Amino acid sequence: SAGPHADLISSHIRDVPDFPEPGILFKDITGLLVDPEGFRAVIDALAHAVPADVDLVAGMEARGFILGAALAAHLGKGFVPIRKAGKLPPPTHAVTYDLEYGQACLELREGTVRPGVGVLLVDDVLATGGTAAAAAQLVEAVGARVVGLAFLLELTALDGRSRLAGREVSSILATA
Ligand code: AMP
Repeated sequence: SAGPHADLISSHIRDVPDFPEPGILFKDITGLLVDPEGFRAVIDALAHAVPADVDLVAGMEARGFILGAALAAHLGKGFVPIRKAGKLPPPTHAVTYDLEYGQACLELREGTVRPGVGVLLVDDVLATGGTAAAAAQLVEAVGARVVGLAFLLELTALDGRSRLAGREVSSILATA
């Protein structure tokens, strides 16, 4: 769902070839965050697509923290960070998931997401969907509901949506 500010937003996203590894076209949102109109436009656009039954916003490390926390404050909701392994103090819940090479782990502080609450997951980029699927699994493992997943940018060629089938997924921008 592009919206009226799609051009403003996309003009501030920079393509960085071969970062952090050869073959990856990195989408750098730093220029968007530093621009006052750009940052506001992103948060407004994310807020516009929020499902009605959101109680809490959760952001995936690291750029999901920035967007998710700003969105939560804008909505008047709380925010919870979903972090990479070993960053949160115990006790935590953890989920391990497969990457192209090896595995990764996401953690959630125990007691921060109560059973039954409606959680909106936020991240900057939806690529393969592995991170988002694992985060959703983590939220559901503690008995909460994933009422939506919101992204700034969806890389459609990687078809992350298929890993999130049946879920409410929104992205401000989409590109191959
Ligand atoms: P994935 O699990 O493959 O959907 O990857 C999503 C996660 O990796 C998100 O946390 C993104 O911030 C990051 N990511 C993946 N691909 C890119 C990319 N091309 N540019 C910037 N961030 C990316």
